[in-house]
Amino acid sequence: MSKFAAIVLSAGVGSRMKSDIPKQYMDLVGKPVIYYSLKAFEDAGFSSIVLVCGKDDVEYCKKEVVEKHGLKKVTAIVPGGKERYHSVYEGLKAVAEADYVFIHDGARPMITQEVIERLQEAVVKEEAAVAGVPVKDTIKIVDDDAYVTDTPERQYVWQVQTPQCFAFPIIYDAYKSVIQDEEEGWTIPKITDDAMVLEYATDHEVKMVEADYRNIKITTPEDLLIAKVFLSM
Ligand code: C5P
Repeated sequence: MSKFAAIVLSAGVGSRMKSDIPKQYMDLVGKPVIYYSLKAFEDAGFSSIVLVCGKDDVEYCKKEVVEKHGLKKVTAIVPGGKERYHSVYEGLKAVAEADYVFIHDGARPMITQEVIERLQEAVVKEEAAVAGVPVKDTIKIVDDDAYVTDTPERQYVWQVQTPQCFAFPIIYDAYKSVIQDEEEGWTIPKITDDAMVLEYATDHEVKMVEADYRNIKITTPEDLLIAKVFLSM
């Protein structure tokens, strides 16, 4: 049977939240935001979950998130890095043994069992599969001065979310090569998701898997209100 691990990211500072408490620890119907994704992977039978948090938050996460809420599958809590991709790399290093790894933003508490299962099926078949939804609006590409330069055909434009899921050795090697290039002073693209790392380091295909419009990322205070409404449904 394949072994699935999850890396749940919570090392961001969340400056757009306008709050002293980082968004991932804010209360959402009686539990911290980060609890929901950890619990989702635990319920899905993942063999290990690595929680990546701020460097000063390791003890807090251990006591106030994992122990307090009885989470059993968190096998490591490690400090993250400067950018999201540095945090992912720290997480990958802490995964003990896995055939497949799901990389998930801890700021997305609405991830469901159904979407996790759909991604498990896809990643076993494709080795690289990411959650996303078709865009509802027309998307415009603009230049530095906000003049429209292009309008991609809407049927080919998706909004990518997390989890982003990969065969473990493939993504680990891809991350190693990006980090190495960065350390050697090469110019690397601004990496905002995990699929980009694969696109940069390999020519491996990435399959888009339809997820759920409710799988929002808590970024601004309104998002927390929206998540409360979803959870109460
Ligand atoms: O900043 P953004 O909203 O894109 O962050 C997405 C996720 O990545 C969040 O869960 C955040 O905590 C995490 N992150 C991280 N380390 C960073 C930056 C972001 O773990 N350096």
